[in-house]
Amino acid sequence: MIQMEKSLTAALLEKAEKSVLFTARRPGIVMERGDGMHLWDTEGKRYLDFVGGWAVASLGHSPAVLQEALSRQAATLVHASPGYYNRPMIEFAELLTGVSGMDKAFFASSGAEANESAIKLARKHGAVNLNGAYEIITLTNSFHGRTLATMSATGKEQWKELFAPKIDGFKHVPINDLDACFAAVTNQTCAIMVELVQGEGGVHSVSEAYLYGLRKICDMYGMLLIFDEIQTGMGRTGKLFAYEHYGIRPDVITLGKGIGGGFPLSAMLTLDKYDLFEPGDHGGTYTGAPLAMAAGYAVLKELLDRNLAENAKKQGQYLIDGLHALASSFPISNIRGKGLLLAFDLPEGTATLLAAACLREGLLINSPNPSTVRLVPPLIVTQQNIDDMLGIMRHALGKLEPG
Ligand code: PLP
Repeated sequence: MIQMEKSLTAALLEKAEKSVLFTARRPGIVMERGDGMHLWDTEGKRYLDFVGGWAVASLGHSPAVLQEALSRQAATLVHASPGYYNRPMIEFAELLTGVSGMDKAFFASSGAEANESAIKLARKHGAVNLNGAYEIITLTNSFHGRTLATMSATGKEQWKELFAPKIDGFKHVPINDLDACFAAVTNQTCAIMVELVQGEGGVHSVSEAYLYGLRKICDMYGMLLIFDEIQTGMGRTGKLFAYEHYGIRPDVITLGKGIGGGFPLSAMLTLDKYDLFEPGDHGGTYTGAPLAMAAGYAVLKELLDRNLAENAKKQGQYLIDGLHALASSFPISNIRGKGLLLAFDLPEGTATLLAAACLREGLLINSPNPSTVRLVPPLIVTQQNIDDMLGIMRHALGKLEPG
């Protein structure tokens, strides 16, 4: 009997099923290479990427500046020890605090760790300055990460019962409801933590009046105002930081995703007056590691030099206009978002089908829930990329409609 040879992809998928712990339903493809706006799988099929590694590939895939910075730094010093300063750590901290208007930076590897750092700093502030206050107010439908504390901070309804018991000390209040937030404050509250645009929650923005109100509440009670800019920061919304749209300043900002352009990196920034940790309170083996610092520096320099936040604003508007044009032929509604953090709604269930249909046609889009499509392409996206993407989506929507 002739044995048909398995394709490379089929063989890899079989190995994946045997050896990779199941945590997510993944399509039957294996990604192999990236360049700019595109990814290629092991069959050589090319995908136009409007997911950007979940809002991570800010400069596109495998950008030259990141390749150069990583290889230069790898040849110089990969890891010294968190117990010593290293040169890229200091240079990156100076650059990042300078552009953000904050004073001090703590570095980690993932967004959840940056938020965990902010939660600990808020509790430290409560312990030192607010008679032991430890509660943090966050928003319903928010997303702050997958460690136990950040899952507890997260306001996802589906997570309420997961991994009980949760970490105590988080209160969730509805977005843009200042009265509800005010009512949740007690003498145990040490901070309010919000995303300025809820990314995973379906791309919903806080209003200016609400954010102004949160700032006032925090000032009134001496509580920290924490902006989780892990998804919205680093140019994504058309400004380097989303708080610039509002003109309201935080006490703590957390950054992740786009900050490393694909290299695992995150940061928590704060002001001198909240530089409260003592030795032993907080840290981590990889905090401020040279390779990550060199990556962060190179990515931020490139974002600034090419003014990619401005490109995010310009192309974001072009994409919104294109989506409105599509909406005259298809049941697209609620086109929303800022810069290149955009979403729209489709009839229930259709968003997931559309994402699958686009994948078959070589376009990556994300559907955070069955009725929402989220678009978070690299900040280098061009009008041509957007035209191509809208063309594929129009075709895929046309094929979906009869069913
Ligand atoms: N905060 C926000 C706003 C996010 O969007 C995410 C990830 O999607 C996180 C925190 C967690 O980041 P990470 O997955 O890198 O831990």
